Amino acid sequence: MLTAEIIAVGSELLTPFRTDTNSLWLTERLNTVGVEVKLKTIVGDDDARLEETVRDALKRSGIVVLTGGLGPTEDDITRKITARALGRRLLLDEKVLDDIKAKFLRWGRKMPEINARQAMVMEGAEVLNNPNGSAPGMYLEHEGRVVVLLPGPPREMKPMFDNLVLPRLAERAGGVRVVRRVLRVAGLGESAVDERIAPVYTQYKNPQTTILFNNTEIELHLTAQGKTEAEAELLLDGLAGQIEERLGDSIFAFRGEKMEEVVGLRLAVGGFTLATAESCTGGLIAHRLTEVPGSSTYFMEGFVTYSNEAKTRLLGVPAELIERHGAVSAEVAEAMAVGVKQRAGTDFGLSVTGIAGPGGGTEEKPVGLVYVALADDAHIEHKRLMLPGDRYLIRWRSSQFALDLLRRRLI
Ligand code: AMP
Ligand code: MG
Repeated sequence: MLTAEIIAVGSELLTPFRTDTNSLWLTERLNTVGVEVKLKTIVGDDDARLEETVRDALKRSGIVVLTGGLGPTEDDITRKITARALGRRLLLDEKVLDDIKAKFLRWGRKMPEINARQAMVMEGAEVLNNPNGSAPGMYLEHEGRVVVLLPGPPREMKPMFDNLVLPRLAERAGGVRVVRRVLRVAGLGESAVDERIAPVYTQYKNPQTTILFNNTEIELHLTAQGKTEAEAELLLDGLAGQIEERLGDSIFAFRGEKMEEVVGLRLAVGGFTLATAESCTGGLIAHRLTEVPGSSTYFMEGFVTYSNEAKTRLLGVPAELIERHGAVSAEVAEAMAVGVKQRAGTDFGLSVTGIAGPGGGTEEKPVGLVYVALADDAHIEHKRLMLPGDRYLIRWRSSQFALDLLRRRLI
């Protein structure tokens, strides 16, 4: 496999105020054509350190991609220093200079003198046109290595890379296509997932499987290589199918969708409506549902009933029910779900009540005890959860379990 490294240039990228996102985007794009990124570096606007970094990169990587530092000012050193590291001269390219002047004219200004710097091109390099800014990029083959210079602003860098660089690198990589698919799992722990699917995925080197845990759910990242995208997709279909046989309904997404998108789609397809009543999640479920465009077709309303009094006044939960069982109980969760469904006149009512902590727990009802409940015309159900984690995680996981309860009902 061809290996690449990325050098992000810019002192601002070393501060907490700007993040190098270009290298993340570039890595993803390089991976799709079968180029593996082995290293990335962030270098400030420092001549000596950048020169050393470029020299080192050329010793070890087949492809070196630099981004940033192509602006017109004194601290934009990428052109000058890369030329120095490669031992190539920088020459004024009249055509590029004319292009830059013409661009400024179109923007209604005369080209400032300092922008002439951006017309300096490394000997032997091909100019990469930049329709979205003044700094052109460069593509160069040097002693069997590829060196690419890209502008720093993402909206200039991305189209330049996709249109003018990626096709060449794809060819160089020998026409390998790499496709990734993200499956997401709810309601099962990491070890339970691994126990069930390890016998399947360990049989394959291609696709490759990685299991990632992120807060609330387990993600399975499947990566396949093929001669074409279709071939890689076919390999993914095969493995995803076998994994589905082992995990069943616990997989809620096959293409990286979010839980709220999956639930929303099922509601929309079925023509169903939903209302929510939330206590410890404070509206998180309603927030997640309404982040999905088009959610107004199925999500009607959401109550945040934090106090006992609100549960009674807004949802009609009998005060003596709360008195008898406590606000955090299966009985109250179900009464909330039924109450919100009735008041909103929806097909489904979904509710949550629990103790998110850090205070408020007792021996009988510890922090992390959460009840989620779902009501529809035919059926009322609840689930008792004992969730680990801090306040943030308990709230988030509660919202996930509640949405998952509805998802499973909609299957
Ligand atoms: P430059 O090409 O160094 O003049 O960078 C211009 C602007 O592009 C910077 O101020 C950043 O906002 C942005 N930029 C540069 N490098 C990166 C990077 N690696 N990731 C994200 N944004 C960047
Ligand atoms: Mg800069």
